[in-house]
Amino acid sequence: MIIVMDAAASERDVEAIRARLTQEGFSVHLSQGVSRTIIGVIGDRTRALRLSLEAMPGVEKVIPILNPFKLASRDFQPENTTIQVGPHLIGDKAVHLIAGPCAVESREQLLETAFAVKEAGATLLRGGAYKPRTSPYSFQGLEEKGLEILAEARERTGLLVTTEVMDTKFVPLVSQYADILQIGARNMQNFFLLREVAKTDKPVLLKRGPSATVEEWLMAAEYIMAGGNNRVIMCERGIRTFENYTRNTLDLSAVAVIKKLSHLPVIVDPSHGTGKWWLVQPMARAAIAAGADGLMVEVHPSPGEALSDGQQSLTPENFRSLVAGVREITRAVGRCLPDNASDRQVEKVASEE
Ligand code: PEP
Ligand code: MN
Repeated sequence: MIIVMDAAASERDVEAIRARLTQEGFSVHLSQGVSRTIIGVIGDRTRALRLSLEAMPGVEKVIPILNPFKLASRDFQPENTTIQVGPHLIGDKAVHLIAGPCAVESREQLLETAFAVKEAGATLLRGGAYKPRTSPYSFQGLEEKGLEILAEARERTGLLVTTEVMDTKFVPLVSQYADILQIGARNMQNFFLLREVAKTDKPVLLKRGPSATVEEWLMAAEYIMAGGNNRVIMCERGIRTFENYTRNTLDLSAVAVIKKLSHLPVIVDPSHGTGKWWLVQPMARAAIAAGADGLMVEVHPSPGEALSDGQQSLTPENFRSLVAGVREITRAVGRCLPDNASDRQVEKVASEE
């Protein structure tokens, strides 16, 4: 349930309620909005309602949250969450581009890709060092060597690093290298892993499971938040349906649904979402039109030679074209690309008119 405080409520009023609930064994989460504070209460709802908190000073109303996800819900926090990753703010006006190869294959391959995507406008670099492959005979990733290469690319390009952590035992190691910890689609409901990343101070990019409902996906986010880490970025990457022309069915309605139900930022991965490189740009544009806060895109210097997911990877040239295509849509929906001088120019001209 949530307790909406009066706009005139004092810090002491909030503190008194927090103390009362904590004493009764409830877990309490504060959400400081622009005009008022909302107190989220996790625990047995019937017992909480019996405390008659509505009678306490500063309380405007007590509302039960009907959704099973609480901390992730927009009832609990009406304002959008923005997540600071180094100098970047995810979930704000700027639409961030996370780009890079499916897997780190070699130093040369990663550095070449990193410089190319940076030049084109990406702010974060992706690349798997541990790969969740369907076949045990496929390339499984360079593991720690891959993480070292990612760190070198960050050092040389300034791009921050997003990489997948597949197992609880690797959380400390991957956290040493990553700026954002990625939970892969296959692990979305690995609750032990969710609890482990919750204990880190890293933002978590939570991919939607291939057959997860929106509610299950938000419950996975709730695990991370309930464990103490509020910095969750949702990532739609397509779901399994009867349609097999595309690798997955990219569920862009989920972007608008998450925005309605939750305050968390949402990004879209049109590469895994479609499995075909030529569908990546149109779906990237559609994702931004639907309200996505960012994109995750696979880019490889020679997709034909990629050790994984070459068929859905963009060449650096195609990535540049995607950035130009996405820029048009960001302008149309009142957003921009980060650090985008030409967008700022456009805004300036528009405001002078
Ligand atoms: C990835 O982004 O590297 C990946 C494996 O994607 P997903 O977990 O969405 O399949
Ligand atoms: Mn991939």
